[in-house]
Amino acid sequence: MAEAAEKQLRILVVGAHPDDCDLKAGGVAALYAAAGHTVRFVSMTNGESGHHEMSGSALADRRMEEATAAGNVIGIRYDVLSYRDGRLQPTLDARFEIIALIREFRPDLILTHRPNDYHPDHRYTSQLVCDAAYMVTVPPVVPEVPALRDNPVIAFLSDKFTRPYPFSPTVVVDIEPVLDTVVDMLHCHESQFYEWLAYNRFFDEPVPDGTDARKAFLKNEYCKMIAPLAERYRDLIVKTYGQERGRQIRYIEAFEPCEYGSPLNDENRDRLFPFFSA
Ligand SMILES: [Zn+2]
Repeated sequence: MAEAAEKQLRILVVGAHPDDCDLKAGGVAALYAAAGHTVRFVSMTNGESGHHEMSGSALADRRMEEATAAGNVIGIRYDVLSYRDGRLQPTLDARFEIIALIREFRPDLILTHRPNDYHPDHRYTSQLVCDAAYMVTVPPVVPEVPALRDNPVIAFLSDKFTRPYPFSPTVVVDIEPVLDTVVDMLHCHESQFYEWLAYNRFFDEPVPDGTDARKAFLKNEYCKMIAPLAERYRDLIVKTYGQERGRQIRYIEAFEPCEYGSPLNDENRDRLFPFFSA
């Protein structure tokens, strides 16, 4: 029992908007949760700007409900903070809130956006997490919440941006076994995948009606979106999973170490991502 408790991981995923965590780390979250680890999703902003017909508190309330439902799919807590969508800034107050949140959750691993990204909310979410690294161990900073003894490992979620340097993962995880679970999570974000992103011309096909048709549509779009990752990082997949399985893997999530967290290296990689022996 004690040994099992020691092995249980605590994973914190910090995204800018209510759906970023699911989109970029829903697969590993489903795998962690199924293995009995504790995962928490946090959206820094309330999502109040992600729609063409709704906004403000009506949309924020709706997105909070969608996020809660998505978390319920895999039995995790999905926090939506109250920073306004489209207006996030890397202020000292926001940094202190993140430091307190990290200290209270005590994550072994934090996943977040890279600091180079088209969306200012993504950039500043990354900035805030990077600014909280190390400082979470400094007792006089946010003295009301006890400091951590160890700086958590931090890794970045995948993206397509190439300047100043392209996303450079050292960890890739096969998420095909939980693909339908991720689609079930994304399906909860109705305001996004069936309304806002469709309006935003994110998809080639029109959104169908009906739950089954919508899930099939969303699975197809999600697979199209993430399939290029497996091709781009095939060498790392083969190195991780071996030739036979590595050549066949089609859908992955990938993670790049952040230098400001504790090192993510060969020694702790298999402990923090316990998915490679199955
Ligand atoms: Zn976002």
